[in-house]
Amino acid sequence: MISCDEFVAQVSDYLDGRVPFGERIGVCMHRLMCVRCRNFYRQLKEIVEFVEVNADPPDTGPSEEVRSDLMNQYRERYGS
Ligand SMILES: [Zn+2]
Repeated sequence: MISCDEFVAQVSDYLDGRVPFGERIGVCMHRLMCVRCRNFYRQLKEIVEFVEVNADPPDTGPSEEVRSDLMNQYRERYGS
C-alpha cells in the first residue's frame, strides 16, 4: 500500500483523473483504509467541486496555491 505522503502527493491529480490506472488503485485503496487520508480527500474534493461550480471562467479548478495550502495544513497537522 502507498504511504500517506504518497497519497497526499497524488490526490490532487487523482481528483483530476490524471493518475494512471495502476496507481489509481493504490490511491483508492489507501483512501479506503486510512481515515485521515479519507477525511483529507473529502475536504479536497469539496473544495475542487466548490471551485468548479463557482469558477469564472469555468473549468479553471482550484489554483495550485489552494491545493498546496491544504496539503501543507494536512502535513502540519499529522506530520510525516
Ligand atoms: Zn493515509
